[in-house]
Amino acid sequence: MLKIYPILCRAGVMDNYAYLIIDQETQTSAIIDPSEVKPIIQKCEELQIKPKYILNTHHHFDHTDGNFALKQKYQCQVVGNIKDSSRIPEFDIGVEDGKSFSLGASKAEIIDVSAHTQGHILWYFPEDKVVFTGDTLFNLCVGGLFEGTAEEMFTALQKIKALPDDVEFYPGHEYTMHFAKEAFVLAPSVELAEYIDRAQKRLNQGLPVAPVSLGVEKKCNPYLRANNLTELQQLL
Ligand code: ZN
Ligand code: FE
Repeated sequence: MLKIYPILCRAGVMDNYAYLIIDQETQTSAIIDPSEVKPIIQKCEELQIKPKYILNTHHHFDHTDGNFALKQKYQCQVVGNIKDSSRIPEFDIGVEDGKSFSLGASKAEIIDVSAHTQGHILWYFPEDKVVFTGDTLFNLCVGGLFEGTAEEMFTALQKIKALPDDVEFYPGHEYTMHFAKEAFVLAPSVELAEYIDRAQKRLNQGLPVAPVSLGVEKKCNPYLRANNLTELQQLL
């Protein structure tokens, strides 16, 4: 089993989430997408954790800027898509679409969702029923197309939709309220109203909106609701 600690980075600016994850059985730990060093070190010290790995979803600076300093401090190894080996700073270990990566006794499946960037991956832990979606899936929206096409984003979203409804997702940014109003105008529903209400309450308490189950997200996120490329293109 994994223990997951969201760490808000670049607060109020880009509102990134890094995640400290710990395999409970072996106490092996990793940082997902270290955006900013200070809050991550603070959390590691608070919990007396020395992360063994850094797991990156993609190469963007707001997800990899902490790689160098954390590697210096903890001698951790940087893991990312082999296709991004020249773009992810301090790259050590390559993973591939369809393959898995072991964090102690916890196993992650790697899912290529190239669209936001080429080589963007999801870190999916099927036994724990959690997936880290980086800048591909956010609450009620998706990441912009920096290096990919609408077709590629459609394909990526179908891969996410194929995951079980009881999987909970952890996004790379706190962007829930960015598209919430538009999402409600597009497809008002009781479920979405409840989603937004819960989100606002969580944010008011200083808590991340994540995690939300993919089942709920599939019903409420307009980008996941798009049934075909044309419907998705109207949103992008
Ligand atoms: Zn990005
Ligand atoms: Fe980002």
